[in-house]
Amino acid sequence: MSDDKMIELVGVKKSFGPVEVLKDITLSVGKGSVVALIGPSGSGKSTLLRSINLLTVPDKGYIRVGNHTMDFSRSTALPRDKELAAFRARTGMVFQSFNLFPHMSVEENVMEGPATVLGMTKAEARERAHALLEKVGLADKAKSKPEQLSGGQKQRVAIARALAMQPEVMLFDEATSALDPELVGEVLAVVRSLAAEGMTMLLVTHEMAFARDVADQVIFMRDGCVVEQGDARQMIENPSHPATRSFLSHFH
Ligand code: ADP
Ligand code: MG
Repeated sequence: MSDDKMIELVGVKKSFGPVEVLKDITLSVGKGSVVALIGPSGSGKSTLLRSINLLTVPDKGYIRVGNHTMDFSRSTALPRDKELAAFRARTGMVFQSFNLFPHMSVEENVMEGPATVLGMTKAEARERAHALLEKVGLADKAKSKPEQLSGGQKQRVAIARALAMQPEVMLFDEATSALDPELVGEVLAVVRSLAAEGMTMLLVTHEMAFARDVADQVIFMRDGCVVEQGDARQMIENPSHPATRSFLSHFH
C-alpha cells in the first residue's frame, strides 16, 4: 500500500442471495483526486459506494480508506458496531435523495453529527455549521427548514452536513440525478470547489461533461466488474474499450 492512495479496494465481492453484484473489484483513488464512477443501471455502482463506507458489508476482499483497513477475507474479521462507526466516519456520503432531517432547521441538520457523534458543544457545532453553510452558499438559510428549500439547496445542505464530520473522502451517489436541470449546476459548482481544495472524491454520475472536466479519472463498471479505469478526458472523449464506447454512445 502506497501513501498516495486514499481509497483502495482489493478483490471485493458482494452477493445478494444468489446474485453476485460485485464480482472482484480492485480499484484505487489517489489522495486529492476526483474519480467518476460510471456504468449502466444495475452494474453495482451504488453497492460499490455503499461498501466503501460499509453501509453494505462485503463478503470478501479488503477496503482501505486512509490508513484504516477492513479485511473481509476471513469471517472472523467481521467488524463490530464500534469499528463500523469509526470506519464510516472517515467517509462522507451524499445520496440522490437528500435525506435531511425534515423536522430540523438547516443549521441543526449540519450540527447533528458533530454534536452527537464527535461530542462537540452546541456552540462549536453551530460555528462549524455556519462556516460550512457559508462555503456552500447557504449562510442565509441556516434557520430555514428543508421543506422551504429547492432541491439544489437541499443537496448543498447535505454536502455541508457530510463535510461537518471532516471526512477524509467524499462519496457522491448520483447527487444531481433527482434535481431539475436548472439546479444541477449549483451542486456541481460545490463539488468543483471541493475538488479545487484537494478533497478526495468518488462520484457516481451521469454528467459526462462534468466528469470529463472535473474528474481526474473515470472508472467504467458493468455487470459487477470494473471494465477499465483511466484518464477522465481520454476515456470520455476517446474510450478504447468497446463496452465503454458503447455505454458512452448513449450520452451523445
Ligand atoms: P447501480 O447503482 O449501478 O444501478 P446497484 O448497486 O444499485 O447498481 O445494484 C446492482 C444490483 O444489485 C442490482 O441488480 C440490484 O437489484 C441489486 N441489489 C442492490 N442492492 C440490493 C439489496 N439490498 N438486496 C438485493 N439486491 C440488491
Ligand atoms: Mg445506483
